[in-house]
Amino acid sequence: MNEWERAGELPRDLHDKAGQWVCDQALQLHGGLGYMRGAEVERQYRDQKILAIGGGTTEILTGLAAGRLGFST
Ligand SMILES: Cc1cc2nc3c(=O)[nH]c(=O)nc-3n(C[C@H](O)[C@H](O)[C@H](O)COP(=O)(O)OP(=O)(O)OC[C@H]3O[C@@H](n4cnc5c(N)ncnc54)[C@H](O)[C@@H]3O)c2cc1C
Repeated sequence: MNEWERAGELPRDLHDKAGQWVCDQALQLHGGLGYMRGAEVERQYRDQKILAIGGGTTEILTGLAAGRLGFST
């Protein structure tokens, strides 16, 4: 892993949480319609979740980043 990839672990958690917050707000704004399967906002809500799972979960990447900064996890 190069230094650019290592640096990318740090903002991942913030990026994931921001995406979750935006999609949660969008779904809430649309009310019951946003919750319906097939609605664009429902798809976005589901799709953003994979950003926190795929390619290493947020918890694992945060743990790795913390370790590199000298914190024990
Ligand atoms: C739609 C989709 C597409 C995918 N595409 C790919 C792909 O193209 N290539 C690829 O390689 N993989 C892919 N994956 C797999 C993905 O990388 C794994 O699902 C992911 O790494 C999590 O592994 P797991 O599902 O075994 O969960 P687990 O490892 O069982 O984790 C379950 C939960 O426990 C937490 N956890 C586990 N260990 C710790 C720990 N030590 N400390 C704190 N929390 C912990 C995790 O953060 C997670 O929240 C994909 C998954 C999905 C759902």
